[in-house]
Amino acid sequence: MNILLVEDNKTISKGLVYSLEQNGYTVTLCETCEAALSAAPFDCALAIIDIGLPDGNGFELYKELKRLYDIPTVFLTAYDDEDSVVKAFDLGADDYITKPFSMRELLARIRRLVASGKGCAVKIGDIEIDLDKKAVSKCGETVELTALEYRIFSMLVQNAGKIVTREIILERIWDLAGNYVNDNTLTVYIRRIRKKLGTDCIKTVKGLGYKLEGV
Ligand code: CA
Repeated sequence: MNILLVEDNKTISKGLVYSLEQNGYTVTLCETCEAALSAAPFDCALAIIDIGLPDGNGFELYKELKRLYDIPTVFLTAYDDEDSVVKAFDLGADDYITKPFSMRELLARIRRLVASGKGCAVKIGDIEIDLDKKAVSKCGETVELTALEYRIFSMLVQNAGKIVTREIILERIWDLAGNYVNDNTLTVYIRRIRKKLGTDCIKTVKGLGYKLEGV
């Protein structure tokens, strides 16, 4: 199970990563808001976010992340003032812990949040992708994608806002397709996915590939 940790204090992050790994978690460590946003943590079951970050504050980062990913979040804060705590909960945070904190306590809180598991859902406008169940829905209605269509769409989701080249898509769907998918076939698949989703969130980047927008 992967945890997104956004913390710029190396002493704290080192200790946290060590303890989390000892407890069977894998950790995606980011030191800035920018790094956390570009890490596209679609596979993270939980986020631990420090409030004071070099390029912004954890609250702003959380708001941005929440637009894309429905990940349970614990704020890690040096500020034990009522305002910060109220703000965290107002924004929808699931928990917070004040530094210095006991690792045992943090682990207990993580276990509780993971057990209450909201799962790993990504929202793009009306469309929701459940990466655990490999299911896509629109306005609550299931969108039936074939395995290959899902694979292509989830690649775009995982790289939301970035260009995914046709070469990379073709390379990664090779195994699943069982035979060679050529360039024209890919165009057809993309057209089908767009039709099923009923939105234009997949943009064609001429001569390069595709990009998921509207997130
Ligand atoms: Ca900090």
